[in-house]
Amino acid sequence: MHMDGDDEEEQEPVKLGATEFVCPGCNAYNPLDEPLKNGMEVQCNYCGNTYKAKIMESGRIKFRET
Ligand SMILES: [Zn+2]
Repeated sequence: MHMDGDDEEEQEPVKLGATEFVCPGCNAYNPLDEPLKNGMEVQCNYCGNTYKAKIMESGRIKFRET
């Protein structure tokens, strides 16, 4: 049996300095006015949710709802 516990939701890897992000809530593609950086707050143009970008050790960016 295969148990490696990777049932975490897969997110598109977003890199620092990206100029767009995909909303974790509604999967809408949103362009950004400025390159993404750690701690930056972004707002989805579609659902209106705001998220805070956090850089993970892997270099990926995780969005946390604010
Ligand atoms: Zn959204």
